[in-house]
Formats: sequence, C-alpha cells, structure tokens
Amino acid sequence: MTYKTDIEIAESAELAPIKEIAEQAGFAAEDLELYGNYKAKVNFTAFEKMIDKPDGKLILVSAINPTAAGEGKTTTSVGLGDGLNRIGKKTMIALREPSLGPVFGMKGGAAGGGYAQVVPMQDINLHFTGDFHAISAANNLLAAMLDNHIHQGNTLNIDTRKITWKRVVDMNDRQLRHIVIGLNGEKNGTPREDGFDITVASEIMAILCLANNLEELKEKLKNIIVGYTYQDEPVTAGELNAHGAMAALLKDALKPNLVQTLEKTPALIHGGPFANIAHGCNSIMATKLALKYADYTVTEAGFGADLGAEKFIDIKSRMAGIAPDAAVIVATVRALKMHGGVAKTDLNNENVQAVELGLPNLLKHIENMQEVFGIPSVVAINKFPTDTEAEINVIKKKCEEIGVRVVLSNVWAEGGKGAEELAHEVVKLCETESTLHHPYDLEDSITAKIEKLVQKVYGGKGIELSKEAEREIARLENLGYGKLPVCMAKTQYSLSDDPSLLGAPENFDITIQKVKVSAGAGFLVALTGRVMTMPGLPKKPAAENIDVTPEGNIIGLF
Ligand code: ADP
Ligand code: MG
Repeated sequence: MTYKTDIEIAESAELAPIKEIAEQAGFAAEDLELYGNYKAKVNFTAFEKMIDKPDGKLILVSAINPTAAGEGKTTTSVGLGDGLNRIGKKTMIALREPSLGPVFGMKGGAAGGGYAQVVPMQDINLHFTGDFHAISAANNLLAAMLDNHIHQGNTLNIDTRKITWKRVVDMNDRQLRHIVIGLNGEKNGTPREDGFDITVASEIMAILCLANNLEELKEKLKNIIVGYTYQDEPVTAGELNAHGAMAALLKDALKPNLVQTLEKTPALIHGGPFANIAHGCNSIMATKLALKYADYTVTEAGFGADLGAEKFIDIKSRMAGIAPDAAVIVATVRALKMHGGVAKTDLNNENVQAVELGLPNLLKHIENMQEVFGIPSVVAINKFPTDTEAEINVIKKKCEEIGVRVVLSNVWAEGGKGAEELAHEVVKLCETESTLHHPYDLEDSITAKIEKLVQKVYGGKGIELSKEAEREIARLENLGYGKLPVCMAKTQYSLSDDPSLLGAPENFDITIQKVKVSAGAGFLVALTGRVMTMPGLPKKPAAENIDVTPEGNIIGLF
C-alpha cells in the first residue's frame, strides 16, 4: 500500500480563510493582524478583554523517551484537537513553530503528519510570520551593541574572553560554530573568539516563550547576561541599554500566530525553544490565549515526559500560573520495540516479546505523570500502519492491569475521527480533581533540585558533579541565582544521561558537567554533556530535493 506524503495531503486540503477560523474561535476582527489569507497574528487586546473569564481545560501531550522510530506527539496533539471538536468540544491547539534550518537537513515536518496536520504547512515550516527572523535580529542587535561597546572603550570592563552571548542564524551551518571575529586592525573591532548558534537555541527564544506580556519580555531581555567583567561580575543587556530596542524588534513576534488544522480547528503556533538547553514548549502567551477562548486547549512539550513534561510543569507552569488538567502519554509499538532491543531496520516485523520488553519505559512515564506530577493521564497508542493487533494488545493489557486508561489513536490515517475515543477519555479526565506536584521546590539548593529530578523523575540514584559544575553552582548561588528553576540538558533518548540505556534503567548516576544561568529566561541550565546548539547538514541535505514551480508552489518539502 502506498500512502500520500504529508505535503500531498496538506496541498490538497481546502483551507478556510483565516478570518473565518478566527471568528469560529471567538476572536474579534479588530484583534487580528492578517498575514495573507491563511495566517494571522492575534493582538494583545484579545487576551486583555477576556482577563476575567475563567480558563478552559489544558491538556498536555507528552510521550515515552523518543527513539529513531518516531512517536508522533505533534501528530497526536493535532488529531486530538480535531477529535475534541468532532465530539462537540470547543478546542484550540497550541504548538511550537518549527525552525527553518532543520527543514533543509533531514528532519521531517514539524506540523503534524498524515491527516493530522496544521496548515499552510509550507509557510509554517519556512518563514511563517517572520517570528524567528525577528528573534535573530534582536539577538544579533545585542551582539552588535556588545562588540561596539568594547570597541568604543569598554567602560563596563568586559573581559572579551568571558563573553557568553553568541550570534545566531536560523540555518544548520556547522562552519559557524567556532569563529574568530574583529580581524584586520583597530578600525574593525576587537579580535576575539565567537560562534553562532541556531536561532531556536537563542535565549531570546526562551524569553519570548516565557514572557506573560510585553513589559515582562522587556524585563527579561534586560536581565540577559552577555558575559563577565575582569572581576567576574555579570554584565547584562540592560547595562548595554539594549533591551528597549530588542523589545521593539520583538513586539510583533510576541503575538501568537493563528492557523488551522486540516479539519479547521484553530491552532496557535508560536515560539519554538530548544528542549535541552531551554524548556521546549510553545509560548505562554499562546497557551494562555487559547485557554481564554477555548474550552479545551491541547498543547505539546518536547522530547519525552522526563524532559518535556517536567519542564512544562517546573518552568512553564510556574511562570505562567497554569496547570494541565489532563495528560496524554503518546507511545508507539515501534518505539517500544526499540526500547525492547529491536534494531531500527527490523521494526516492520511483528515482535510481541520486544514490545513487552520495552514496556518499562512507558510504565515509568505513567508513574511520573500520575504520581510525581499528579496529572490524570491516558496512554495514546499512536497507530502506525505496520503495527499488529497482537502488539497493540500487549500495551493495552499492561495498562489495564495497572489501572491506567489506554486508547488506540489513529489520527495519522484518519484525522480527528481516529481520536474520538481519545477525546472522550480526555474530557472525562479533565473532570477529575487533581493537584499539580512539583518534583522540587524553588527554595531547594541547586544540587538538591537536580538530585530530586534524578531520583523522582529519572529513577536514578544520584548525581556526580564535575569540579567545574561544583564551582559554577557555588558562584551562581553567590550571585543570587540559586532560587531559579533548573532546566536539564540531557539526552532525550534515555531516562539516564546515557543514550544507549533504553527501557527503564536503574541504579545510575547522572553526571553534571556544567551549570549555567539563563538569567533573562529565568532558569539555570544543568548540562550532562555537550549540547549541540548549531546543527550541521547531512551528506545529502533535504534541500537538494526542494524546489519551487513557475507558479510558486513549493515541492519536495517532506
Ligand atoms: P513528535 O512531535 O513526537 O516529534 P511528530 O508528530 O512530529 O512527532 O511525528 C514525527 C514523524 O512521524 C512525522 O513525519 C509524522 O508524519 C510521522 N508519524 C507520526 N505518527 C505517525 C503514524 N501513526 N503513522 C505514520 N507516521 C507517523
Ligand atoms: Mg513535535
């Protein structure tokens, strides 16, 4: 059997004018800023006028630890949104914006898949409404002002060897990872080492997603640390007087983007921070806007629940003052088979035993979601064409045994219709009383916070700190950053910090190599190893297959 590609399905969809989608969502015409016929930004006024209205229900979509086999969180989120609308619930979807760079590498689309997609997918995957370009501009304005300050006499006494602020571009370009700038004599700046990150790794991306309003955005920009003085004192964007102009560049980017699913469910696609050195969730502004206008909001957190859901709860929920009413844990037969030891090349063969062997990974995430975080949860088995009934039944049986709801979701093949059962379950869960638990308190020491995450969420023994991390923790606590939440930068593939330990490993320690502060975004970052913040292109980049017809239609994109 052959299947239509994502882009073929998206291309043949008939889109409603965005004005109609907005009207259906309840947005007033004067609160919209149209970007052509199928995209709009929603102005801040839309939220302000609903400030007294109680929030709708929030559904968090998370997953088991990702494998190369793919899990389908975004696809499930989109399909569930459509499913909820089909059963008569007023629903909005709030997801991240994809980064431009990886589109030309080897990544698939980031706007869902099959019959559960947000459209117009080419736009969403490419320039969209320009938010990422604005973030790049704001980031690079700060870099330019920093180097200019040094060139003009460096009254802040910045040690050029201790600059932490990098330039960014939204492209996979390994050539720019480590560079030397300011060459060719005193008229051309001060020579120093520098480097580029990809735009989504910029702290400004995290800031945009964690700001509750424009004033808070500016405050957070002001607090960004760009580097340190010769006396090791932090130097901020505020001291360079850069925050006002940066906020000016970002004022439109801060407004959530409205698009639609293939089934015309309103979708806010806004912000897309890294899920390792940042928190991996769409913007607070979009999520809170959706909660005001819809009775049900479906949102996704990046990677598996050990990283994505944890950061949603410990970082985003805290800063936004929101809490999920229900969680969907996405699992696939294919991914569980990989957790059970099957190689990627053998995934198409039935292997009931391997599914069984992979189950502990799912079970740990169920325990985390329900007991550690306290969110009523349902497991969604995201059905792939290669799954067999016997394999699916293994997952169902185990979930029933431990008393957690489990539903087969077939949104990739069927769209919202394939999520009706899941939608009914989610509605029921949202009626369950629940209290969100945080695995650690903000008052805990930095070390205690990380230890609690390792023990409660990852199922490990404890932590080992490198000498450097130990020094940094002491320094950051001295500087007054000890009470911030911790953003773990760890492999997504394992509950541990070793990507080869699949399933549910036990008795492991997590090694913290480095700790740093993202003082603007408002979190500490604990790094268990090197994190790639500027990807490269593969030997045969996807870009080689992308083209545009004389009529202006893009082809070869996914
Ligand atoms: P995540 O959000 O977890 O990273 P996505 O929803 O973006 O995952 O899905 C990753 C890829 O897998 C997409 O290309 C999507 O089309 C594909 N995919 C997801 N679910 C299915 C499914 N049930 N059957 C086939 N392909 C799927
Ligand atoms: Mg996703």
